[in-house]
Amino acid sequence: MSAQMSRDDLLVKYPSLDRDIHRVDRLTDLFEAAATQGHKPVGQWKRRRDGREKFVVTGHVTYSPGARNHPRISDALDEARAQKRTVPEPDDLAALARLDYAHSNLSDRDRLSYDPDGYGLDEVYSIESRLHRHKLAASLHAATMGEPMVSVVLIDPNVPAVQPDMPLRWRNKDGSVSSSAATFPVGLGYSPKRVAELVMHFLASQCRWCDRADGRPDFGLLCSAGETVYLFPTCRNCRDELASFFADGDHGSTQSLDFIANDGDLHGTGWPADRRR
Ligand SMILES: [Zn+2]
Repeated sequence: MSAQMSRDDLLVKYPSLDRDIHRVDRLTDLFEAAATQGHKPVGQWKRRRDGREKFVVTGHVTYSPGARNHPRISDALDEARAQKRTVPEPDDLAALARLDYAHSNLSDRDRLSYDPDGYGLDEVYSIESRLHRHKLAASLHAATMGEPMVSVVLIDPNVPAVQPDMPLRWRNKDGSVSSSAATFPVGLGYSPKRVAELVMHFLASQCRWCDRADGRPDFGLLCSAGETVYLFPTCRNCRDELASFFADGDHGSTQSLDFIANDGDLHGTGWPADRRR
């Protein structure tokens, strides 16, 4: 048996391999996914035996890696994880938080000129978007059917309750069906951050950490926990208080918490694609 041929030798012998569409290149796929969906792969460069450097993917961005060090946030995470959650139907996802084609990265829209009232994007799509819209619908349908998927959980009294059409055996003893809070899947064309921004804008109503009259949720605290990203609406005062816990360096660096802004800028500029902000 002959020794394994190099790719260059193979291409000389079989030129049509150059057009092989069934290429396997995990790294390229990951970066293409990052461009379309915003899942940023993280990792490190490692030197191989032949001296060349190779990028090894070790995971994806984790939001607020220091969250568990803060007792209040840690308690809030435990409380959030104990709540019952259900993914609403795709039509409801669009109605509640605009999780649809027009608001996804797939439309690849630039920033529009600022309008505080935002733009009606429901009819916005390009001629060639049909396949994309179909794939997005399929991915949201899969999420509704209970496929495991990255999802965003908003902790807010304004989150709608969902009462799915359950089999009889899931009913309570008295025959009633207890509802659960809506959770928001990160479908095709979305990043967890983008879903969080939409959900915050359309549904967040009060700061998770205080009951100040001026506790407007100007920020959202993002906390990764496995496949789920918890989103805690946070007012300006509480953001400063939570962040100050880490400022002295005893509990991790000041980079230990990740906040998103909820200032209406994205809504006012027509929800531009992540890469065009
Ligand atoms: Zn607050």
